Amino acid sequence: MPQPESDGDYAELMREISALEAEFATSEVRNRLADVGRRIETLYESLRENRLLLETVLENSAASIYAKRKDGRYIYINREMEILCNVTRERGLGRTDFELFPTDIAQQWRSNDVKAMLTGTLSQSEETVQGARGERTVLAKSVPLISRNGDIEGICGISTDITDLRRTELALREAVAKLERERDSKLLNIEAITASIAHEVRQPLTAIATYANAAQQFLGRTPLDVDELRTIVDQIGNDCRRTNEIFDGIRSLFRRADQPRVPIEINQTALDVLQSLAGELRDHRIATHTVLAAGLPPVYGHQGQLRQVITNLVHNAIEAMETTTDRGRELRLTTNPQGGNAIVVAVEDSGPGIDPAQLGSIFEAFVTTKAKGMGLGLAICRMIVHRHGGQLSASSDGKSGARFQLVLPVE
Ligand code: ADP
Repeated sequence: MPQPESDGDYAELMREISALEAEFATSEVRNRLADVGRRIETLYESLRENRLLLETVLENSAASIYAKRKDGRYIYINREMEILCNVTRERGLGRTDFELFPTDIAQQWRSNDVKAMLTGTLSQSEETVQGARGERTVLAKSVPLISRNGDIEGICGISTDITDLRRTELALREAVAKLERERDSKLLNIEAITASIAHEVRQPLTAIATYANAAQQFLGRTPLDVDELRTIVDQIGNDCRRTNEIFDGIRSLFRRADQPRVPIEINQTALDVLQSLAGELRDHRIATHTVLAAGLPPVYGHQGQLRQVITNLVHNAIEAMETTTDRGRELRLTTNPQGGNAIVVAVEDSGPGIDPAQLGSIFEAFVTTKAKGMGLGLAICRMIVHRHGGQLSASSDGKSGARFQLVLPVE
């Protein structure tokens, strides 16, 4: 800290006053000199107190503070600056930035200082400094030191370390970007939901249209085959019920989690699914093997949704086996208890299987290998199974078929 007066000067002044006191004979002059001495002493004391206060504040400040003469030579460097800029007072005082720091940095600091001295106002800039704490970003403020008669005598600088602030800002910006991405993906979810409704409903609707078409043709025939027509109308009724179930299932997916759960006999659900897809299985010449474990406890959940999952798995198996011509087309549906607290439902087929590298991604929305596929079936299935506290996974050697396994907890 620059010292305008020193203890040495003060002591000398006081010695001189004592000498003068001794020289002057009259007590009046001696008294006046003693009075001046006391006033100087009081002034000096308060000056020392102020200096101590200022020094304590400057030395303990979290900001790095320095002062330079007009020519750029340091006359003061506080402790924080020593650390921040890796420069000791012994080395720094009396030197310029060009003697202490790399030229590009010195140039930037000098131009900041000169700007403040020319304008007589505060000049500030964001700077990077290398010091004991590594690379830090600081907000450097240069304030001109102006004497009482208005002359610019130098510069005082205060640099605040804003590295953490900038890091927090960056983290905040990233968090905002993440939130925006999440919002966008929610919008994508809405799109996915809309597409999934269309995807699920299209299948029974197509069947209804086909049956209606067939009915029209039968109506034109004589004699009228009432039995055939009744079968067709029954099929239409079945597909209407299926459509309703799909809507129920989708609706309940988005209902609150505390909706009542009902006990479900998983074997019966599996049989219902095979029953409703019997026509398709037959048309595709698929042999179905069903091995259902007896005495399974019920699963608690939503009947329509679980039926939807098994239907999707069987339907995917049927589609996969469309290309299977070199061996029998076989579908195997099994149920088994697992460790007393879960049930495993497995759907296996003898289709082309799934490339093991793709096994992880097929459950993602919009992943499909089918020309007209939506890639939503498995994504929805997994969501339903997760909502039931279970797991849905797939395995395959990529050649001789695929196995989808559904593990559902029981209570
Ligand atoms: P989509 O049926 O509309 O393609 P899914 O989500 O149901 O959508 O299936 C995603 C993809 O997983 C399918 O396109 C197919 O490549 C693959 N896949 C699903 N089930 C099987 C299966 N049993 N055998 C072979 N590949 C399958």
